[in-house]
Amino acid sequence: MYSEQTTLKRLTCGKCAYEWLYKGRSPFWTSCPRCRTNVKTNVDGMAGLAEFNKKEAVTR
Ligand SMILES: [Zn+2]
Repeated sequence: MYSEQTTLKRLTCGKCAYEWLYKGRSPFWTSCPRCRTNVKTNVDGMAGLAEFNKKEAVTR
């Protein structure tokens, strides 16, 4: 019923400002891959997804 589980979300770590695309199953929190700080996953990641992809394309 809920397909949100596999939705890609753009997350930003509040501690080290690291940005990544999260596609895990945790509904609320995950750990920053860089510094292991808890980061919220229940953000509206789709809003910034297009922007993220554009940014990736440029930096790549
Ligand atoms: Zn971090």
